[in-house]
Amino acid sequence: MNGKEKETITSQHGIPVGDNQNSVTAGPSGPTLLEDVYLIEKLANFNRERIPERIVHAKGAGAFGYFEAKKDMSKYTKARFLGKAGKKTPLFVRFSTVAGEKGSADTVRDPRGFAIKFYTEDGNYDLVMNNTPVFFIRDGIKFPDFIHSQKKNPRTNTRDPNMAWDFWSHSPESLHQVTILFSDRGIPKDYRHMNGYSGHTFKWVNNRAEAVWVKYHFKTDQGVQNLPVEDALRIAGENPDYHTADLFESIERGEYPSWTVYVQIMPYEDAWTYRFNPFDITKVWPHSDYPLQEIGKLVLNKNPDNYFAEVEQSAFSPANVVPGIEFSPDKMLQARIFAYADTDRYRLGVNYTSIPVNSPKNASVSNYYRDGFMRVDDNGKGSVNYEPNSFGGPTENMTYARTKYGVEGHAGSTPYEKHAEDDDYTQAGNLYRMLPEDEKNRLVDNIAGDLKNVKPEIVKRQLAHFYKADKDYGARIANELKIKDLKV
Ligand code: NDP
Repeated sequence: MNGKEKETITSQHGIPVGDNQNSVTAGPSGPTLLEDVYLIEKLANFNRERIPERIVHAKGAGAFGYFEAKKDMSKYTKARFLGKAGKKTPLFVRFSTVAGEKGSADTVRDPRGFAIKFYTEDGNYDLVMNNTPVFFIRDGIKFPDFIHSQKKNPRTNTRDPNMAWDFWSHSPESLHQVTILFSDRGIPKDYRHMNGYSGHTFKWVNNRAEAVWVKYHFKTDQGVQNLPVEDALRIAGENPDYHTADLFESIERGEYPSWTVYVQIMPYEDAWTYRFNPFDITKVWPHSDYPLQEIGKLVLNKNPDNYFAEVEQSAFSPANVVPGIEFSPDKMLQARIFAYADTDRYRLGVNYTSIPVNSPKNASVSNYYRDGFMRVDDNGKGSVNYEPNSFGGPTENMTYARTKYGVEGHAGSTPYEKHAEDDDYTQAGNLYRMLPEDEKNRLVDNIAGDLKNVKPEIVKRQLAHFYKADKDYGARIANELKIKDLKV
C-alpha cells in the first residue's frame, strides 16, 4: 500500500473481501449459504478469541521499561546484568490481582502480583514477585487447596468468607500474610504505589562458585499509598479497571513509575543456624539482621501496543534464572518452578516462548526442541535435530552448569526443620505491634467486618491465632465481634 489507497479487508488467507456488511444469502431474505466462507471464517475466529485465563493472577496490566544496575555485584553473582554500574537491561513487568477473574475489579483486598522479565544477554530472567514479603503457606502442596478456598464457592459461584477463613484457621502459618492482607497495604492505591518483594530466597553464585542467599525488595519511588476501604468499594463499581488505567495513563503522560531495588544478602552458612528457617516464605528476614543493599533502579517507560499480544500472552516463571542465580530449598519456590511453565504450556501452547513478549531479546535460542502446536518460527530449518551429533549443532558448556550443593536427611513427606525461633506467630505479632494505632484500628475493623459473616467455630479457631500473635490483637477483634466466651 502506498499510503493513499485504502487498505482492503482480507480473509486470514489474504483474499480480498467484497462485502463485510451483508452475508451471502439465498435471495434477500433467504437462509445464509454455507458457501459464505468469509462469514464462517469471521465467526469462527471470533468464537476462538478467548484463551484460558490464568488460574491465579488473571487480571493484570503491564508495561515495558528497564533495569539500571547501581553497582558491580560480581563479588556475589556472575549474573551479567548485575555486573556493572550503569548497565541497563530492558524488561517487561506485569502487575495483577490474585484471586479475581479476568473481568474482576482492581481495587479489591488481595495481594498484588509484580512479575518481571529481564531480557538479559544470558537469556530471560523472571522474578515473579508479590507486593507482600511473605505468603500464606510455606509448601506448594497446599497451593491448590488454598486457592480453592479464596475463589468462588463451588455451589453458589460466589466468594465465601467461610471457605477463606476456614482454610486460614486450619493453616496458622498464614497469619503473617493475613495480617498484611487486612492491613492498609491489602488495598494498594494502584500498581505504582506499592513495593515488590521476591519473598522467596534465591542463591547468588559468583565466578568462583561461592554462594550467598538473597531476597529482593523493589521499593516504590512514588511512595507506598493505599486506598481507604470506602474509596476502594466505590471505585470498584465506578471503574473496575482503575489500576490498569492508572498505569497506562501515567506512562502516556510521561510520568514513568520507578522502583529502587535492594537485596538482603545472607552468607551461605548462616542459613543452617539462623534463628528462623530462612527458606520459609511465611517469614521475613528482619532488616536488623540482614540490611537492605541497593543494587539498582527499575523504570517503566513504555506501554504495550496491544494488550492481548503483550500482556495477556506474557508468561513468567520463577524457573527462568540466568547463570549466577540459582534456587533455594524454599518449598513454595520449588513447586512454583514447575507450575508456572506448566500453566503456560496449557494456556498458550508448548511454543509460547516464540510469542514476542516472551522471546529472549538479547540472547539467541539454540536447542533441539522441534515441532509442536503453533510452531511459527522456522523450526530449526534443516539443521540437525538431535545431540550429540557430527554436524556442528550447539553443545552444552559446563561453565554454565549449576553449582553443586550438599543435601542430607531421609526422603519423605516432612515439614521444614524448625530453627530456634520458628513459630507461626512471632512475626505476625511483630507486624501488629509495629503498626500505628490508627492502622491497628483499621486492621481490626477489616478483619472483624469479614469475620462477621463466618461460622462461629471457624471464628473461634482463628481468634486463637490472633491471640497467640498478640493478646491485644486477639482481644480487640473478639471485642469488635462481641465474643466474650472464648474457650479457644
Ligand atoms: P523493621 O523495622 O526493620 O522493618 C519493618 C518494615 O516494615 C519497614 O522497613 C517497611 O518495609 C515495612 N512497613 C512499614 N510500615 C508498614 C505497614 N504499615 N505495613 C506493612 N509493612 C510496613 O522490622 P523487621 O524487619 O523485623 O520487620 C517487622 C515486620 O515488618 C515484619 O514482621 C513484617 O511483617 C514487616 N515487613 C518486614 C519486611 C522485611 O523484609 N523485614 C518487609 C516489609 C514488611 P518496606 O520499606 O519494605 O515497606
